[in-house]
Amino acid sequence: MLLHDLKIGNKLLLINLIVACVSMTMLVVCIAVIAFHSNRTNLIHDLNAEAHILSENLTASLAFNDTKSAQALLQALRWSPHIKQVIILDSEGEIFSKYPPGAKQNLNEIDTLSSYLSAVSVQQPIKIGTQQVGQIQINASLNHIYSQLKQFLLFITFAMLIAGGLGAFMIRRLQTYLTKPIIELTKSMRLVSNTDNYGLRFNLESKDELGELATGFNTMLSTIQSHEAELDSELTLRMQAENRLQQLAYYDEVTKLPNRHHFNERMAKVVASSIQNNALCCIMVIDLDDFKIVNDTLGHHIGDDLLFAVGKRLGHDLRVEDILCRIGGDEFALILDNLTSIEQAQHVAEKIIQLMALPFILQDREVFIGASIGISFCPNDATNIPVLLRNADTAMYNAKRLGKNYFQMYLPEMEAKNIRRFALESALHRALDHKELFLHYQPQINIKTNQVTGFEALVRWDNPELGLISPVDFIPLAEDIGLIIPIGEFVLYQACLQSQQWRERYQVDTEISVNLSGRQLIQSNIVERIISIVNSTQLPFNLVTIELTESILMDHTKETLDKLEKLSASGFTISIDDFGTGYSSMSYLKRYPIDTLKIDRSFVSDLPDDTNDVAITQAIIALGKNLGMKLVAEGVETEAQLAFLKMHDCDTAQGFLYSRPIPASEAEHYLIALSDAKNNAAEKTTLA
Ligand code: C2E
Ligand code: MG
Ligand code: MG
Repeated sequence: MLLHDLKIGNKLLLINLIVACVSMTMLVVCIAVIAFHSNRTNLIHDLNAEAHILSENLTASLAFNDTKSAQALLQALRWSPHIKQVIILDSEGEIFSKYPPGAKQNLNEIDTLSSYLSAVSVQQPIKIGTQQVGQIQINASLNHIYSQLKQFLLFITFAMLIAGGLGAFMIRRLQTYLTKPIIELTKSMRLVSNTDNYGLRFNLESKDELGELATGFNTMLSTIQSHEAELDSELTLRMQAENRLQQLAYYDEVTKLPNRHHFNERMAKVVASSIQNNALCCIMVIDLDDFKIVNDTLGHHIGDDLLFAVGKRLGHDLRVEDILCRIGGDEFALILDNLTSIEQAQHVAEKIIQLMALPFILQDREVFIGASIGISFCPNDATNIPVLLRNADTAMYNAKRLGKNYFQMYLPEMEAKNIRRFALESALHRALDHKELFLHYQPQINIKTNQVTGFEALVRWDNPELGLISPVDFIPLAEDIGLIIPIGEFVLYQACLQSQQWRERYQVDTEISVNLSGRQLIQSNIVERIISIVNSTQLPFNLVTIELTESILMDHTKETLDKLEKLSASGFTISIDDFGTGYSSMSYLKRYPIDTLKIDRSFVSDLPDDTNDVAITQAIIALGKNLGMKLVAEGVETEAQLAFLKMHDCDTAQGFLYSRPIPASEAEHYLIALSDAKNNAAEKTTLA
């Protein structure tokens, strides 16, 4: 057991010492026994020889009973120190002589081991011829043999000690070569198992078995290390794949927000706890306004960047328990749990609208996007998720209808409006084929001369079932469902055709303004389409004004610039409609070939009383004039407004003061008047 716990070096040392000691001891004992025995035998031989010599010399002494001569003869034995006693017996068995003189007879000594080990005794008859005359007994001690053995043992012990020391030294040396590397190897193995560092290597430059062991150990570590690395990379890949799956299953790729699936799960929990605790929660559907334009004009890449930025901005100020998700293309949903009041949700919606009003900087350009929000409350509006979502959607569509960038809370009455939207949508698909669309023309009057300079063509829709529908209602719908493209082309063709017919009929040139939707402008062949349509009516291009809203020009792309430059170069007039209501950045005014600014009706309506509107209108006029543009004031309804515009040098006015948008037949009165005025002027010149 003790051996078990010892280190290998000590174990080796101890085993070697034990083996050496036992074997040497056995060897020494054997040698001692053999030496003792042979010395004793030799002594017996010597004693027998001495007894023989003595018996030869004593025959005469015995024959003549001369004890003195016998005694003298025995005295010579003092030179043999190992002889302890010599007794001479006569033929009667009586002591004849002895040495030393005081010695006692001890003839019948028992032959025991102790007597064997302590002394030697030889007896020999003394004969004259064949007759025995006496007997001689010599007893010798073994002390000299023992002292010899003692010396021998001392020598052997000394030799053994030297051999033992030498052996221990050799074992130590052997340890250095054998056990030390093994110990080091053991340490390294322990280090590896404790630290899991398979990059460790054991350095042993030896070509023997230990060297092979070290190489084997290192190879094993390299193999484990490479397996470990493979395992690690496999694990990393697996974890990445799992994360990715998790991400894909629950998160939206573009915005990194929870997706619809995640949204449904979270919503279910929120609604359940709201019902259980009778707490107020709400779902907000946030839909980006005109996101399609951004996507189509700036590309999907920027569209994706914008969605990401919107997600980030929306999530910025939320509480931890609020859940923001992307549930569709440009649709986000916000779940607000544990609301204290309806106003709290309203406040969040207002904040979102404000946040969205700030521009997004994407790839060094400013992008503007609004959002329309619909809110539905649980349990007030519904306690069932699909219904809550539908209600929020209905409210959101209502917000869009009310002019976008707006929020609405769900009201049951909205359902009816929603139904109307679907009815409008299906009816609009048939409107062109059923010839339900037609144009009205609103005259534009030169403020100084009071003469008509042109007309704005405004589309009208008269549906047998739905009645007369305002473009404010169906144009956004047509834009949403893509019908604006055929409708826009129809308007352009009809307006130009009408204008050309008026030209031919009344011999007067008036301008015709046509509204062009963003969805139309993003078509790659829009310039060719416009040219081809206008060409087909034979109306000169310089009599056609293309009205664009500011939002269309927000993208600053090269394509938009190219298109406008081509149109301008072809002779078309480019006009900015509803100027001042769109975007804060005015840099596009310098960039694009713009000829006319149409001051929005909202600035004109409170002229000349509202000081803000006065300032804005003056500023717009000054800006337009400075940039060499023509100015048209929209929505002029009163003489006071007209007087203000005249005073501030605005060129043209369009509004109910002169005329509402009217059918072509009524618009002809203006042309007749213009033609008459022209003829009168011509006559005057001829007369003069
Ligand atoms: P818009 O291009 O700014 O057209 C002017 C709108 O202001 C017209 O409304 C017109 O009736 C109205 N308006 C003109 N003078 C006055 C006034 O003195 N007072 C008031 N209160 N309103 C006045 P309308 O015809 O309802 O058209 C609304 C909008 O629908 C247009 O605004 C235009 O953005 C769009 N739209 C109309 N026709 C077309 C079309 O053919 N294509 C496209 N893309 N959009 C069109
Ligand atoms: Mg217009
Ligand atoms: Mg306008």
